[in-house]
Amino acid sequence: MIGCTCSTCESDDPRDTRLRPSLYLETPRTSVLVDAGPDLRQQALAHKIGRVDAILFTHGHADHILGMDDVRQFNAMQRGAMPCYGDERTLEDIRRMFAYVFDPATPKGGGLPHLELFTIAGAFCVADLEVQPVPLFHGKRPILGFRFGGFAYLTDCSRIPDEARPLLADLDVLVIDALRIRPHPTHFSLEEAIDAATEIRAKQTFFTHMCHDLKHAETCASLPAGMTLARDGLVLDVNH
Ligand SMILES: [Zn+2]
Ligand SMILES: [Zn+2]
Ligand SMILES: [Zn+2]
Repeated sequence: MIGCTCSTCESDDPRDTRLRPSLYLETPRTSVLVDAGPDLRQQALAHKIGRVDAILFTHGHADHILGMDDVRQFNAMQRGAMPCYGDERTLEDIRRMFAYVFDPATPKGGGLPHLELFTIAGAFCVADLEVQPVPLFHGKRPILGFRFGGFAYLTDCSRIPDEARPLLADLDVLVIDALRIRPHPTHFSLEEAIDAATEIRAKQTFFTHMCHDLKHAETCASLPAGMTLARDGLVLDVNH
Protein backbone atom coordinates (compact mmCIF):
# COMPACT_ATOMS: atom_id res chain seq x y z
CA MET A 1 0.00 0.00 0.00
CA ILE A 2 1.46 3.35 -1.02
CA GLY A 3 2.80 5.24 1.99
CA CYS A 4 1.98 2.47 4.49
CA THR A 5 4.40 1.38 7.21
CA CYS A 6 2.35 -1.50 8.65
CA SER A 7 4.11 -4.79 9.39
CA THR A 8 2.87 -6.38 6.13
CA CYS A 9 4.02 -3.47 3.97
CA GLU A 10 7.41 -3.45 5.74
CA SER A 11 7.70 -7.25 5.83
CA ASP A 12 10.87 -9.01 4.61
CA ASP A 13 8.77 -12.01 3.56
CA PRO A 14 8.52 -11.83 -0.26
CA ARG A 15 5.02 -13.36 0.01
CA ASP A 16 3.88 -10.07 1.57
CA THR A 17 4.78 -8.12 -1.58
CA ARG A 18 1.79 -8.39 -3.89
CA LEU A 19 1.09 -7.07 -7.36
CA ARG A 20 -2.44 -7.03 -8.76
CA PRO A 21 -4.24 -10.36 -9.13
CA SER A 22 -3.93 -12.16 -12.44
CA LEU A 23 -3.54 -15.66 -13.79
CA TYR A 24 -1.55 -17.18 -16.67
CA LEU A 25 -2.56 -20.62 -17.99
CA GLU A 26 -0.46 -22.83 -20.21
CA THR A 27 -1.76 -25.98 -21.92
CA PRO A 28 0.04 -28.08 -24.54
CA ARG A 29 -1.60 -25.98 -27.25
CA THR A 30 -2.26 -22.50 -25.90
CA SER A 31 -1.38 -19.79 -23.38
CA VAL A 32 -4.15 -17.70 -21.90
CA LEU A 33 -4.10 -14.73 -19.55
CA VAL A 34 -6.93 -13.97 -17.13
CA ASP A 35 -7.13 -10.18 -16.64
CA ALA A 36 -4.61 -7.58 -17.74
CA GLY A 37 -4.03 -5.28 -14.79
CA PRO A 38 -1.63 -2.37 -14.46
CA ASP A 39 1.19 -4.74 -13.41
CA LEU A 40 0.94 -6.88 -16.56
CA ARG A 41 4.22 -5.63 -18.01
CA GLN A 42 6.14 -6.12 -14.77
CA GLN A 43 4.62 -9.58 -14.23
CA ALA A 44 5.28 -10.67 -17.81
CA LEU A 45 8.92 -9.61 -17.48
CA ALA A 46 9.34 -11.24 -14.05
CA HIS A 47 7.82 -14.56 -15.16
CA LYS A 48 9.20 -14.52 -18.72
CA ILE A 49 5.78 -14.63 -20.37
CA GLY A 50 6.60 -14.68 -24.07
CA ARG A 51 3.26 -15.61 -25.52
CA VAL A 52 -0.43 -14.87 -24.88
CA ASP A 53 -3.00 -16.37 -27.26
CA ALA A 54 -6.08 -14.86 -25.61
CA ILE A 55 -7.12 -12.76 -22.63
CA LEU A 56 -10.18 -13.57 -20.53
CA PHE A 57 -11.60 -10.78 -18.40
CA THR A 58 -13.39 -11.23 -15.10
CA HIS A 59 -14.65 -7.62 -15.07
CA GLY A 60 -13.67 -4.11 -16.08
CA HIS A 61 -12.24 -2.58 -12.91
CA ALA A 62 -8.97 -0.66 -13.25
CA ASP A 63 -6.90 -3.26 -11.37
CA HIS A 64 -7.96 -5.89 -13.96
CA ILE A 65 -7.74 -4.03 -17.28
CA LEU A 66 -5.25 -1.15 -17.10
CA GLY A 67 -2.45 -3.19 -18.63
CA MET A 68 -4.18 -3.49 -22.00
CA ASP A 69 -1.84 -1.07 -23.73
CA ASP A 70 1.04 -3.52 -23.20
CA VAL A 71 -0.72 -6.07 -25.39
CA ARG A 72 1.09 -4.25 -28.23
CA GLN A 73 4.22 -6.30 -27.63
CA PHE A 74 2.30 -9.60 -27.94
CA ASN A 75 0.66 -8.26 -31.13
CA ALA A 76 4.11 -7.54 -32.52
CA MET A 77 5.69 -10.87 -31.49
CA GLN A 78 2.73 -12.95 -32.63
CA ARG A 79 1.88 -10.82 -35.67
CA GLY A 80 -1.83 -10.69 -34.96
CA ALA A 81 -4.71 -9.24 -33.02
CA MET A 82 -5.31 -10.31 -29.41
CA PRO A 83 -8.64 -12.11 -28.84
CA CYS A 84 -10.19 -10.66 -25.67
CA TYR A 85 -13.18 -12.34 -24.01
CA GLY A 86 -15.50 -10.74 -21.46
CA ASP A 87 -19.14 -10.15 -20.64
CA GLU A 88 -20.90 -7.25 -22.34
CA ARG A 89 -20.33 -4.76 -19.55
CA THR A 90 -16.63 -5.57 -19.30
CA LEU A 91 -16.14 -5.10 -23.04
CA GLU A 92 -17.99 -1.78 -22.75
CA ASP A 93 -15.62 -0.76 -19.93
CA ILE A 94 -12.64 -1.67 -22.12
CA ARG A 95 -14.04 0.31 -25.09
CA ARG A 96 -14.61 3.32 -22.84
CA MET A 97 -11.33 3.24 -20.87
CA PHE A 98 -9.32 2.61 -24.05
CA ALA A 99 -11.41 4.80 -26.36
CA TYR A 100 -8.30 5.84 -28.33
CA VAL A 101 -7.73 2.21 -29.33
CA PHE A 102 -11.18 1.90 -30.90
CA ASP A 103 -11.40 5.44 -32.35
CA PRO A 104 -10.98 5.21 -36.14
CA ALA A 105 -9.54 8.76 -36.07
CA THR A 106 -6.51 7.63 -34.00
CA PRO A 107 -3.49 7.45 -36.33
CA LYS A 108 -2.46 3.83 -36.88
CA GLY A 109 1.04 2.43 -36.68
CA GLY A 110 2.95 1.06 -33.73
CA GLY A 111 1.25 2.91 -30.90
CA LEU A 112 -1.97 0.93 -30.51
CA PRO A 113 -2.77 -2.48 -29.15
CA HIS A 114 -4.70 -4.57 -31.67
CA LEU A 115 -7.64 -6.09 -29.76
CA GLU A 116 -10.49 -8.29 -30.97
CA LEU A 117 -13.36 -8.30 -28.49
CA PHE A 118 -15.63 -11.33 -28.06
CA THR A 119 -18.69 -11.42 -25.79
CA ILE A 120 -18.84 -14.46 -23.52
CA ALA A 121 -22.24 -16.15 -23.81
CA GLY A 122 -21.56 -19.54 -22.23
CA ALA A 123 -18.83 -22.15 -22.22
CA PHE A 124 -16.27 -21.90 -25.03
CA CYS A 125 -12.82 -23.17 -26.02
CA VAL A 126 -9.49 -21.50 -26.66
CA ALA A 127 -7.63 -24.23 -28.59
CA ASP A 128 -7.51 -27.18 -26.13
CA LEU A 129 -8.59 -25.10 -23.13
CA GLU A 130 -12.26 -25.44 -22.17
CA VAL A 131 -13.52 -22.31 -20.46
CA GLN A 132 -16.60 -22.46 -18.24
CA PRO A 133 -17.69 -18.98 -17.14
CA VAL A 134 -19.03 -18.86 -13.58
CA PRO A 135 -21.49 -16.07 -12.71
CA LEU A 136 -20.52 -14.16 -9.55
CA PHE A 137 -21.49 -10.99 -7.74
CA HIS A 138 -18.91 -8.30 -6.92
CA GLY A 139 -21.15 -6.20 -4.71
CA LYS A 140 -24.19 -5.60 -6.92
CA ARG A 141 -22.23 -6.02 -10.10
CA PRO A 142 -22.45 -9.35 -11.95
CA ILE A 143 -18.97 -10.46 -12.99
CA LEU A 144 -17.37 -13.70 -14.17
CA GLY A 145 -15.21 -16.30 -12.57
CA PHE A 146 -13.81 -19.11 -14.71
CA ARG A 147 -13.56 -22.86 -14.40
CA PHE A 148 -11.00 -24.82 -16.42
CA GLY A 149 -11.42 -28.57 -15.79
CA GLY A 150 -10.60 -29.20 -12.13
CA PHE A 151 -9.50 -25.61 -11.49
CA ALA A 152 -11.62 -22.51 -10.76
CA TYR A 153 -10.59 -18.87 -10.43
CA LEU A 154 -13.09 -16.66 -8.58
CA THR A 155 -11.53 -13.27 -7.90
CA ASP A 156 -13.40 -10.10 -6.89
CA CYS A 157 -16.56 -11.64 -5.50
CA SER A 158 -18.79 -11.08 -2.51
CA ARG A 159 -21.52 -13.57 -3.39
CA ILE A 160 -21.79 -16.83 -5.32
CA PRO A 161 -25.29 -17.16 -6.78
CA ASP A 162 -27.13 -20.49 -6.57
CA GLU A 163 -26.84 -21.12 -10.32
CA ALA A 164 -23.04 -21.08 -9.99
CA ARG A 165 -22.92 -23.82 -7.34
CA PRO A 166 -23.25 -26.81 -9.70
CA LEU A 167 -20.46 -25.32 -11.83
CA LEU A 168 -18.12 -25.54 -8.84
CA ALA A 169 -18.58 -29.22 -7.93
CA ASP A 170 -15.61 -31.64 -7.73
CA LEU A 171 -12.81 -29.10 -7.98
CA ASP A 172 -9.19 -30.01 -7.40
CA VAL A 173 -8.11 -26.41 -6.92
CA LEU A 174 -10.13 -23.30 -6.09
CA VAL A 175 -8.73 -19.76 -6.10
CA ILE A 176 -11.12 -17.35 -4.41
CA ASP A 177 -11.22 -13.71 -3.28
CA ALA A 178 -10.43 -12.92 0.39
CA LEU A 179 -9.74 -9.20 0.75
CA ARG A 180 -9.30 -8.65 4.48
CA ILE A 181 -10.59 -9.47 7.98
CA ARG A 182 -13.31 -6.80 8.18
CA PRO A 183 -16.38 -7.15 5.92
CA HIS A 184 -16.29 -5.22 2.63
CA PRO A 185 -19.22 -4.35 0.34
CA THR A 186 -17.76 -5.90 -2.83
CA HIS A 187 -15.24 -8.56 -1.71
CA PHE A 188 -15.40 -11.61 0.54
CA SER A 189 -13.78 -11.10 3.92
CA LEU A 190 -11.46 -13.92 4.98
CA GLU A 191 -14.21 -15.49 7.08
CA GLU A 192 -16.74 -15.32 4.24
CA ALA A 193 -14.18 -16.77 1.84
CA ILE A 194 -13.47 -19.66 4.24
CA ASP A 195 -17.23 -20.33 4.47
CA ALA A 196 -17.61 -20.28 0.68
CA ALA A 197 -14.57 -22.52 0.24
CA THR A 198 -15.84 -24.93 2.88
CA GLU A 199 -19.09 -25.24 0.96
CA ILE A 200 -17.38 -25.65 -2.42
CA ARG A 201 -15.08 -28.37 -1.01
CA ALA A 202 -12.24 -28.18 -3.50
CA LYS A 203 -9.32 -30.46 -2.62
CA GLN A 204 -7.18 -27.36 -2.23
CA THR A 205 -8.13 -23.68 -1.85
CA PHE A 206 -5.97 -20.60 -2.36
CA PHE A 207 -7.12 -17.12 -1.36
CA THR A 208 -6.30 -14.14 -3.56
CA HIS A 209 -6.75 -10.34 -3.80
CA MET A 210 -5.65 -9.90 -0.15
CA CYS A 211 -4.88 -6.42 1.13
CA HIS A 212 -2.18 -5.63 3.68
CA ASP A 213 -4.49 -6.57 6.58
CA LEU A 214 -3.59 -10.19 5.83
CA LYS A 215 0.05 -10.95 6.53
CA HIS A 216 1.06 -14.13 4.75
CA ALA A 217 2.69 -16.36 7.39
CA GLU A 218 0.43 -15.55 10.33
CA THR A 219 -2.76 -15.69 8.26
CA CYS A 220 -1.82 -19.07 6.76
CA ALA A 221 -1.13 -20.46 10.23
CA SER A 222 -4.74 -19.71 11.20
CA LEU A 223 -6.44 -21.27 8.16
CA PRO A 224 -8.30 -24.60 8.02
CA ALA A 225 -6.54 -27.59 6.44
CA GLY A 226 -6.44 -27.45 2.65
CA MET A 227 -6.66 -23.64 2.58
CA THR A 228 -3.83 -21.16 2.20
CA LEU A 229 -3.08 -17.69 0.83
CA ALA A 230 -1.87 -17.55 -2.74
CA ARG A 231 1.27 -15.55 -3.49
CA ASP A 232 2.77 -13.76 -6.45
CA GLY A 233 4.49 -16.22 -8.77
CA LEU A 234 2.63 -19.26 -7.41
CA VAL A 235 2.74 -22.08 -9.99
CA LEU A 236 0.24 -24.96 -9.94
CA ASP A 237 -0.16 -28.10 -12.03
CA VAL A 238 -3.85 -28.72 -12.67
CA ASN A 239 -6.00 -30.93 -14.89
CA HIS A 240 -7.74 -28.81 -17.49
ZN1 LIG B 1 0.32 -1.65 5.02
ZN1 LIG C 1 -13.10 -5.39 -8.93
ZN1 LIG D 1 -9.86 -6.36 -8.18
